[in-house]
Amino acid sequence: MALLLKGGRVVDAAIGLDAVLDIIVKDGHIVGVGTDLKLERGETVDCAEKVVLPGLADVHVHLREPGREYKETIESGTRAAAHGGFAAVACMPNTDPICDNGSKVRFIVERAAANGAVRVYPVGAITKGQAGEQLAEIGDMIAEGAVAFSDDGKGIQSAGMTRIAMDYIKRFGATLIAHCEDESLAGHGVVNEGVVSTRMGLPGIPAAAEETMVARDIALAELTGCRLHLAHLSTAGSVALVREAKARGVRVTCEVTPHHLFLDEDALATYDTNLKMNPPLRTAEDRQALVAGLLDGTVDCIATDHAPHAPHEKELEFELAPFGTTGLETALPLVITNLVAAGTLGWTEVTNLMCHGPRLALGLPEVRLEAGFPADITIVDPEARVEVTADWFVSKSRNSAFVGSSLLGKASDVLVGGKWALRNGKVVG
Ligand SMILES: [Zn+2]
Repeated sequence: MALLLKGGRVVDAAIGLDAVLDIIVKDGHIVGVGTDLKLERGETVDCAEKVVLPGLADVHVHLREPGREYKETIESGTRAAAHGGFAAVACMPNTDPICDNGSKVRFIVERAAANGAVRVYPVGAITKGQAGEQLAEIGDMIAEGAVAFSDDGKGIQSAGMTRIAMDYIKRFGATLIAHCEDESLAGHGVVNEGVVSTRMGLPGIPAAAEETMVARDIALAELTGCRLHLAHLSTAGSVALVREAKARGVRVTCEVTPHHLFLDEDALATYDTNLKMNPPLRTAEDRQALVAGLLDGTVDCIATDHAPHAPHEKELEFELAPFGTTGLETALPLVITNLVAAGTLGWTEVTNLMCHGPRLALGLPEVRLEAGFPADITIVDPEARVEVTADWFVSKSRNSAFVGSSLLGKASDVLVGGKWALRNGKVVG
């Protein structure tokens, strides 16, 4: 299939591109980028008024398969990813069973090849069963296609175990993704510890539960030389720690989620369990510090922590409901509405935070809007209106913190290896 993407605003920070251009795609690859390009045979796609970006990637997604297919599957989750404008996702290992050996990684790779709407990069567990005690089969998992390692869902409580894991993972040149949460401080907390937790009468999780482990893991990354990626940072203190670490040359990257960027604990007044997440929504000052981290390069990527749950699980008292919100489908519209349309971020920065930063953090194959690269492309309609209603979602789950929002801008089309995953706003296949 040959395609001519005609007259879009083509933006790619990696090659310093921001201009109205045409792109020709043939046999899955970009073969030309320029002005007044012609195609003898094939489809021409009018991209006037659209923004053409290198395919977006989300490095923090829970696809739930195997074991929790009623919440999400590799098929439904990757369809949700395409709907949200993503061409690639990395999926976390806290499935049932936990993805902690080569055959479990192979299952995900094979399933994704058969049913995936976008590219899927499995993240393997660091420790067996994510129990924090014995190293999982790191080498076997890499051989089957694991791209990074994480016990996401909980922090590794032992610093000694984390050191051993970093020493080992480093030998493979892979990245350790840390979920920073000291359980002795987090306890049974369900919201941020502070005025709001007191007013709501709910147990709190202090910022220090995250920050002490961020500091510990940065120190261990310095000690071992392992590449460290910090998941879903939520506090001003964490951002400050990463900023200092980067300034002294530590190999550390980090991500923030749209819900921590665009919501704070004041939203919890409704006791809506869709706003219950881990780490919890923090204060307005924390939120502002995360945005400042995006602007000064401390934060490398926006990742969704897409965490689907069934209605019967979320329709419980606040303390009993599971943590998590879906995120794949609302992330880009939220970024456009709150940051791009507001003039806080440009499209160039969006490509850094949602395409290149995520790929560099985990060492994934790079994507560029340049001849010779695979045609992984996200086309954005910046003027499209999005009314986020429960039936707008493609994900199996609807536990979004943003239901009821009216947003501006969304992906209209996504190409993955030259094939449509999203076309005119509809997921293909
Ligand atoms: Zn997660």
